[in-house]
Amino acid sequence: MTGGEWRDKGDFTLCANSLMYRKIIHFDLDAFFCAVEELRDPALRGKPFAVGGRPEERGVVASCSYPARQRGVHSAMPMSQAVRLCPQLLIVPARHSAYRATSEKVMACLRALTPLVEQLSIDEAFLDVTALAATGETLAHTLQATINGELQLPCSLGVASNKLVAKIANTAGKAAAADGRPPNRVTVVPDGDEASFLAPLPADALWGVGPKTAAKLADLGIHTIGELARWPEGDLSRRFGKNGADLAQHARGLDHRPVVTDRESKSISAEITFVRDVDDGAELRRTIQSQAEEVSRSLRAKELFGATVKLKLRWSDFTTLTRQTTLTQATDDAAEIYRAAERLFTASWAGQPVRLIGVGVSGLVTAARQLGLWEQPNEKEERLQQTLRGLQARFGATIIKRGARGGTQPSPPRRPARPAPKGESPQK
Ligand SMILES: [Mg+2]
Repeated sequence: MTGGEWRDKGDFTLCANSLMYRKIIHFDLDAFFCAVEELRDPALRGKPFAVGGRPEERGVVASCSYPARQRGVHSAMPMSQAVRLCPQLLIVPARHSAYRATSEKVMACLRALTPLVEQLSIDEAFLDVTALAATGETLAHTLQATINGELQLPCSLGVASNKLVAKIANTAGKAAAADGRPPNRVTVVPDGDEASFLAPLPADALWGVGPKTAAKLADLGIHTIGELARWPEGDLSRRFGKNGADLAQHARGLDHRPVVTDRESKSISAEITFVRDVDDGAELRRTIQSQAEEVSRSLRAKELFGATVKLKLRWSDFTTLTRQTTLTQATDDAAEIYRAAERLFTASWAGQPVRLIGVGVSGLVTAARQLGLWEQPNEKEERLQQTLRGLQARFGATIIKRGARGGTQPSPPRRPARPAPKGESPQK
């Protein structure tokens, strides 16, 4: 370092004359379910079709082919509406096990390139390829060629110095290819061009800008990301709190979030779409209760505990709301998950009809690690024995017996003490 200064910006470190950027790839399969169906039945190629449920059963479009998109069909749209827009639309029932199996092969290809893979959904992931020698662009093309060649699946990739810009680059690249075929694009934002790339895009292209925030920004005369970047950061923080500070950073193309691998980002959840929208609070709470129990059963079957409880709500107009709260202690307890989810529900629901409701738990740790996090099993065991001895001394030896899982081996405690939820962080 000669006469230079270190400026750690998170995304890159500026040292003397050398600039070190991170290299992040956002990977996304193009119309994934449809691509799998086209492999099964090549006659579907080039035709408008959608994977999803029948319109008469309140089916929803899970994925639609690019020719269908050209006619205005998009995913999450009710199938009845899709058929009105595109009467010749073919409806293909979903085969989720086939999609999962194919997704595993795709993710294995990504992990063959780097272990730093953050899977976002069945067909989408971030990769941190900073440590690899080749440029991000070269790596993206190599990866695309592998997925195209070995799995015959079209995919698009965004390359940039951080997650935010890589993802937006990919979305923008895909949108630019609206010719009725899978985009199969690679879109690169060169290091240093993050802010100028974002500037002309609408403000709601940023994470954390939902319809409400977009409307508030529009009231201030802010429509594009560039206009947002020019707005004083202090004022955004005053108006939007923590989200305002994030907005100011993101609008300048800065995003410090690391790629979070595997289990840390995984969640276990249960959700249901009602046959008819439900506006009965008691019924909705009963549903949350049974979902909390389902999630708790899955956690226990996998010997996992989760620290973050999420609630997902979708209204009749398809707007979806996700709220989450982080517990002071990870749990697998149904009652605890229910209490946290119910609080989020009470805070979010104003009596409107609900189309979909879901409860999930993330921030997963293994049971063994969880024990280590709160206390040593031996300490707990010792305390319990002490208590028992105390009770027996006072009331006689038969007054109480351990509710043991059989045998004489002391079993480790199954559940941590009940924590109180702390801090709720709304998510877009
Ligand atoms: Mg996709």
